[in-house]
This record gives sequence, C-alpha cells and structure tokens, in this order.
Amino acid sequence: MGHRFLQLLIITIALTACSDEKNSPAATGNNSDSATEVAQVAQVDAARLLAAESDTANWMTHGRTYAEQRYSPLKQLDPGTVADLGLAWSFDLETQRGIEATSLVVDGVMYTTSAWSIVHALDARSGKLMWTYDPQVARDKQRHLCCGPVNRGVAVWQGQIFVGTIDGRLEALDAATGKLNWSVATVDPELPFSITGAPRVINGLVLIGNGGAEFGVRGFIAAYDVATGDRKWQFHTVPGNPTDGFENDAMKMAADTWKGEWWEIGGGGTVWDSMAYDPELDLLYIGVGNGTPWNREIRSPGGGDNLFLSSIVALRPGTGEYVWHYQTTPGETWDYTATQHIILADMEIKGSTRKVLMQAPKNGFFYVIDRTDGSLISANNYIDLTWATHVDMETGRPVEVEGARYTDQPFMIVPSYLGGHNWHPMSYNPNTGLVYIPVLDFPAMYGQPENFRYRPGGANTGADGIVGSLPDAQAERDALRALMKGRLLAWNPVTNTEAWHVEHAGPWNGGTLTTAGNLVFQGIADGKLVAFRADTGEQLWDFATQTGVVAAPVTYELDGEQYLTINAGWGGAYALVFGEYVRSESLPNISRVLTFKLGGRESLPAVDWQPTVTFNPPEQFADADAIRRGFAEYQDTCMGCHGLNAVSGLLIPDLRGSAFIHDANAWKSVVIDGSLAARGMAAMSEFINEQQAEEIRAYVIEQAIRGQRLQKQ
Ligand code: CA
Repeated sequence: MGHRFLQLLIITIALTACSDEKNSPAATGNNSDSATEVAQVAQVDAARLLAAESDTANWMTHGRTYAEQRYSPLKQLDPGTVADLGLAWSFDLETQRGIEATSLVVDGVMYTTSAWSIVHALDARSGKLMWTYDPQVARDKQRHLCCGPVNRGVAVWQGQIFVGTIDGRLEALDAATGKLNWSVATVDPELPFSITGAPRVINGLVLIGNGGAEFGVRGFIAAYDVATGDRKWQFHTVPGNPTDGFENDAMKMAADTWKGEWWEIGGGGTVWDSMAYDPELDLLYIGVGNGTPWNREIRSPGGGDNLFLSSIVALRPGTGEYVWHYQTTPGETWDYTATQHIILADMEIKGSTRKVLMQAPKNGFFYVIDRTDGSLISANNYIDLTWATHVDMETGRPVEVEGARYTDQPFMIVPSYLGGHNWHPMSYNPNTGLVYIPVLDFPAMYGQPENFRYRPGGANTGADGIVGSLPDAQAERDALRALMKGRLLAWNPVTNTEAWHVEHAGPWNGGTLTTAGNLVFQGIADGKLVAFRADTGEQLWDFATQTGVVAAPVTYELDGEQYLTINAGWGGAYALVFGEYVRSESLPNISRVLTFKLGGRESLPAVDWQPTVTFNPPEQFADADAIRRGFAEYQDTCMGCHGLNAVSGLLIPDLRGSAFIHDANAWKSVVIDGSLAARGMAAMSEFINEQQAEEIRAYVIEQAIRGQRLQKQ
C-alpha cells in the first residue's frame, strides 16, 4: 500500500475556516447579575463525591468518581436481562456540529451539553426539559477550533452547574433555573484558546484547562472559587520567555528542555481533557497535549524533551504546586498528546497492591504508572506501531525507530496524529480487571514542510502529511478506506496484554461504560449502541441510533430501575477532516440524548434521509496551475472544517454543492469579507488574498465536477 500513498498528494494538515450551524436552541437562561441564592437541588459536595463509588443512583462527576473509572456497581442490566433493554425517552439536541458530552445525573435531574457549550437540564425519568442555558458564543469563533464547537460536559457543586464555553469562559449556573450566577474569561479572548473539556470540582475549586495548541497558545490549567469565580491558582505547562523570570521552579526545570524562541508562538501543551484526583494522596493528575507546531525541528530547533508536552503531571489541587511528572513522548513531533483519559485504580501487581494511574495516550503505548511518585510500572503497545519499538523500562522513554522523526524524508507513522486512542473515554472494570479502550488504528505520513510559515491565529502543524486523496476507481477507494480501522479493545493492565477485541467497521467510535453486570456499552460510528459481555466481548444487544456515536454512556438508578443514557451524534476531528474516508454516506447526523431501561418501549421516528449534496458545478474557469495552488491553499485554510477533497462529512454544508462557487463576487463576499460570519464562516482575509480565494474556488469547482462524475458511476 505504501507506493500508492506515495503517488498521492502531499498536503499540509491544517485547520481553519468553517461553515455553519443549522440552528440552535433559544436561550432561556440569560444573564443575571445578582449572584447567588443557592438552589436546593444538585447538592453535591465533597462528602458525596468521595462516596460516589457506592452511590448507584447518581453520576455526579465526569468519570463518575474522582478515579474516573466509568464503572458502575449497578447490575440490573446483565447478560441475562439486557435483551429487554429498550428506549425509555429521547431528547433532540438540534445541532449537527458534534456531540461529545458525558451527561451528569444528580437526584433525578440530568445535566448535559450540546454543541456551542449549550447546557440542558432534563428530568432523568422522562427527558422533559427543565431549562436550557445558551452562552451565546459568537459563531465565527470556530476559526480557532480544531475539531468543531464540541463540549464534553459540566461539573456540579452545591447547587451550581459549571460549564467551560468554547470561547474560553468558565460559567456558574443556578442548578434549579439555569440562570447565570457568574462568568469569568479564563483566557485572553483575543487569543485562539478554546474550551471543550468538562470542569471538575475539588474542595470548592473549579478546575478547567483549554485547547488551541495547533493555533499557537501557551497551555495551562487553573482553579476558580466556586462562589465567586476568582482565580486561585494557575499552572502553566510550558515555560515562558526566560528573560521574564519563571513562575515557579517547575517552569525553570522545564525551560532547560527547550531550545530556540518557543515562547514567541506559545509552545502549546494545552490541558484540554483529562483530569483525575486521589483524595488520600491529595494529588490532581492532568494530561498535557502537543506542542506548537507539532514538528519539534521547528518548535525547538536542536532538540530537547520540551517539558511538559505530552506528559502526565501531578499537582496539589489546593495550590497548583507541581509534584511529579511522567512524559510519555519526549520531544513530541507527531501531535502525540497525553490528554487522553486517566484512570486511577488499586491493583495487585507482582504480589503487592499498587496505587496505579493508567493511560492509553495517542502514542500507542498503554502506561501503568505508580501514582504516588510517577514511576513507571509497565508500558506496552496496545496497537502495532511504526514509530517506536518499545518503552525502555530503565529510562521510561520510547525507543524510536530511525527516521520516525521525518527530518530527512517522509515517514509513514502508526498511529496517526489522531492517535491510537483519542478523547473518547475508556473504562475499567475491577471485576474483570480489564480496561475497555476505543482504539483507532490507521497511518499518517509526516514530512518536513517546504516553506513553513507561522500563521498567528491559524493552524500550525509544521508537518506535511500524505493523507491520501481517494482515487476515482471504486476498488481502490475501498482498499484505501479499509486502512482506516477502529476497534473495542479489552486490555489487561496487569499482564499488559490484550484480553479480547471487537473490530468495528471503521475508526472514531464512542467512549465506553462498564458495569458490575458484566457489561460494556459502546456507541459506534455506524449507528448503533452496543452491549458486550465484559469478560468475553460477546455482543449481547444493540440499538439502532440512526446516527454515528462518539460520546460515552452513563448509567444511574431511579425508583429501583437502572437507566442507561448515551448522547448520540456524529462529530469531532475525524468527522470534520477526513472527507471521503468517513463512511458517512449511509447515515444521517442526528443529535439526541437517548435513555434506556428494561422494558422501555419508545421508538425513534423513522428517518427519511439521503445524502444531500446536489451537484450543479459551473464550468471550470481556471488553468491547472491555479487549481493546484488553490488545492494547497485549501489545505492550509479550509480543510480543517470543510474536509479532505471538500467533502464535509455531515457536519456542515458541503462546499461542492454550494451556490457560492458559481459567482466570484459572492464567493469573495463570504471568504474574504466575512458575509456569513454570524453563521460561523469567518472572514479569511487575514490568511489569504482575493486571488488565492479565487484559486480555492477553482479547486472546489474541480471537486464538485469530480463528485458529480462519481455520483453518476
Ligand atoms: Ca493536537
């Protein structure tokens, strides 16, 4: 397959311009400047969260408990009963922009989020809407988003709901009404930060990080007072300019591992998803992301480990003080974040009980780490890798394959920049002793860019990649698509080996939940929610969700009945960027909260759906050179939202069917002047000029002509 890739086009993976939202729910929770008559609902406090493991009625924090195992002791659903699991209710989320949230459930009320950081409170028995809060994010913010305006959920504490908004605010809502109690800007709104992750609350402090490493920011996590929103501490993950002095000794240590003038473009290292907390050790664990740009040759010329990129860092949650770190990918150069889900457990390893931390970061190794001090217990690859042979147990460092840093020539890397595992949560079942990982398994080519230019506020990978545009012939298209694999992997963290796996039709499947009923639940890309036996992987039950699923399920108990909830809906980086690779032509994108129980007899309305692109391309007006330049500019400026080959993948209008490609002035008004900014398509005039915009139009017309030809085949 290698030579076929080499025939294919070299493109720069880049992430910028976007299009639009269909509609969004009306705001019913508007600003109120007077804080805070504390609601008598959602009374979650330290004692309740510390006892969350045995509290089967509720799901009170993102990973269910501070250990983030996503394991429930509930066992009404089991291999004997699950066949009778049926839909109890559904709630429409009215967006196509990506659904990633883990819903929380507290005392019969569900708190969940949709795209654009919109929060809903629902009756957990019936799905009846209690309130909606819309933070009214300006839609052209999406020029700063790698992966759509997604949100992964809220935190709850003493009558308040906390949400991080996609434009970088942290907000506290009255849990009873959805009214805004306070709002703070956690970042400079002018900078290309974003928040997609769920906050956590520890002892009255709300913790939230941010994303934006591709766009040029300096990553950090910070803690805010639950009552006032006052910032109590901030921990940067990469050092600033040494001549300004260091905030702490950890930054001084980190600066010794960098070269060049990294601070000029921020360095990256964003803390965009994972956190876990050990109350006995009083340690907060955070996962840190990739550098800006990905390519270390450019970011830190001359080398260096570049702390704390791609690291797990342990902090004191009360002060933000650094305690220890473990760097999974020293000198990362492939977008190998360590922001993936962190799980804490106590387990017997070689005859003694160890307090461990587990992570399957993007780089393809499964790590078991002693969470008291950060020492490595074991690391083994959970998919076949091409960039490293193993982890050296003496040094804790991966042993890299020669050439994998693509400094002299391009190198085909598995896993790709989307990782062997991305943000989709895994789960750990203490009864089976297995971790259930939604695995991605596909390659990406990396190469040195010919002319890297840093684009402030634009996407900056610093790596040329060969994604491989799909050829026209059906057999070759099928062969290339077959390279894109995804599976559910049950991993034994004690023996460091696979217990079982189930191969899915493709990558980008949902997060997992496991239960004492010997079950694992996972939503998958091709439109199903599935129950598997946790010990064997046998498939026991499925439900047609009518749409791809990427979020993770939760479970709770009310009136003696066990409920199961999944937020269905397709979205995220793979769905946006991979164009024709995404097998989306057979399924619509319908975002809903779906809740099940034994004997549930509701059904979803029938779907009357067909792929919506109607091709009516104008005649090509440009010559081959202009189209080629337009292609290159499209990759840099448009592809992150509009997809490889201008195929949108169900999240936004497909450019190939757009009326704007027929008219140069209309195209310019959108692309250069920003006439659709309010609907999400920001002006791109800071990145391209009018001639370049016209060359992009020529490229899109070429793709529309091709799409029409393929549709007729
Ligand atoms: Ca990244």
